Amino acid sequence: MDIWIIVVYLLVALLYAICFVRIFEKAGYSGALGLLLLIPLINIIMLFVLAFNTWPIENRLSKLRHKLNDLTNAIRCEECGKVIQDEDAHFCPHCGVEFE
Ligand SMILES: [Zn+2]
Repeated sequence: MDIWIIVVYLLVALLYAICFVRIFEKAGYSGALGLLLLIPLINIIMLFVLAFNTWPIENRLSKLRHKLNDLTNAIRCEECGKVIQDEDAHFCPHCGVEFE
């Protein structure tokens, strides 16, 4: 096999590895988990984990949103997730759900 084919293959694999690490880091996972996408069959499982699992960054964002709501006395609609600034609201102006 020509040496250049191997070099190009390794460069492409390195580029993919860097992208996978960055994607996992941005989702809030350890970047090292992104390297698992380079392993055949394991990469399919990791793709499903990435696609259907709640990302750690989503959990952190949700906690921060709740803290912000507590600080501003706003109401967060559990149905649509929108924030309503009127703390005396009896229903969500976005989706119409009635608050208890
Ligand atoms: Zn709503």
